[in-house]
Order: sequence, then C-alpha cells, then structure tokens
Amino acid sequence: MTFQDLNLNTPLYNAIEDLGFEKPTPIQAQAFNLVASGKDMVGIAQTGTGKTFAYMLPILRHLKYSRQDNPRVLVLVPTRELVVQVVNEIEKLSKYINNRVLGVYGGTNINTQKQAVAQGQDIIVATPGRLYDLAVSRVLQLKSIQKLVIDEVDVMLDLGFRHQLMNIFDILPERRQNIMFSATMTSDVDALIQDFFINPQKVSV
Ligand code: AMP
Repeated sequence: MTFQDLNLNTPLYNAIEDLGFEKPTPIQAQAFNLVASGKDMVGIAQTGTGKTFAYMLPILRHLKYSRQDNPRVLVLVPTRELVVQVVNEIEKLSKYINNRVLGVYGGTNINTQKQAVAQGQDIIVATPGRLYDLAVSRVLQLKSIQKLVIDEVDVMLDLGFRHQLMNIFDILPERRQNIMFSATMTSDVDALIQDFFINPQKVSV
C-alpha cells in the first residue's frame, strides 16, 4: 500500500512528502479506513510503529475547518513527554493545514495553559489530571469533542489513571468516536473496553 492509496487530501499528502515517508506503516495501513469510518477502534501497537500518524492522518483528513473555539479532538496520553511528542507529530502533519493544537500537562503554570485554551483550539493533547482540572474549572469546554483518542492505555492504567479516565468520560459528549492504542492487551485494558465501549474494532500489528 502507498500513501496514494489512502484517501488523503493535498495538504496532508504534501506534508507526508516533505517528511520523506515512503509508505504507510502496517498500523497506518490497517487503521486509516477504520478511523475514517467513525467506528470505535482499539489498536494494539508499540511505540515506533507509526501509531501516532495511524490515528492522526484519518482524523486530520476529516476534520472540517471550524470557526468555533471549542476543541473537537481530544488525545489523552499518560505522560508530559508523550504530550510534547504527540503535539510535535501533529504539527509535522499540519504543515499545510491551519489548525490549532495545544498540549496541556501538569507541573506547569495552569494560568498560562488557561490563557492558551481560551484563545481557541481544535485539538487538545493532554495528560488526564490536568485535562480534568481545566475542564472542571470551565476554562476548557469539552462539549464539542467528536473524537477521543487514548494513547498508551496500558501505561495509563498501570499509572492508576482509571478513575481519572472515568471522570473524563462522564463530561464528554456521549456521541463521539473512541480510539484507543495499547502496546499489549492486558486484562485491565480489556476491562476498560468492556465497561465503556461498544464493540470496538480491533487492529493489531
Ligand atoms: P510513533 O510510533 O507514532 O511514535 O512513530 C515513530 C516514528 O516513526 C516517528 O518519528 C514518526 O515520525 C515516524 N513515522 C511515522 N509514520 C511513518 C512512515 N509511514 N514512514 C516512516 N516513518 C514514519
């Protein structure tokens, strides 16, 4: 499979060309149409497989330009390092797209992050604790979130974030697409899926 086989648009295709990527990785090839279809999905893939682009390419392909300031895509990751890394990857793909991406995580000044949120964002990449704090303080409105990505779910549950995730699910719109990635299918990951998601399609590399 080549990138021409994916139904990309010119801005995304040009960004990929600039990056010099030859072809989609297996997880990208398998996940693209599934994520684009709007169905819930669980991907089993390790770091280094290209999993970030596996969910971001189809999401960016179908994210419509919007004047509204509430974010429509939420990516939750377990650590601040991963927030920075994922924001960086999204920015690479967004070279020719006018979208607003913000990373938020704990351990930094919350007021600075509140100001950045208030400027209006399309995509938020966050650790669960700081995301929840911003949401309950009503600075960050989650009512327009259409797509929830939880990356490294296994690590997230190992770090004890299950309860925090449940709190976040409670304040997200019910009608949304859920996309999860995990390096392995642990019993904790399976339990989370059984409890909160309806029949997610599984993709594994
Ligand atoms: P990830 O698994 O998402 O952490 O990605 C690992 C690395 O692979 C990142 O530096 C990406 O920029 C890079 N990458 C993503 N997709 C491709 C691709 N199709 N071809 C070559 N490198 C890629």
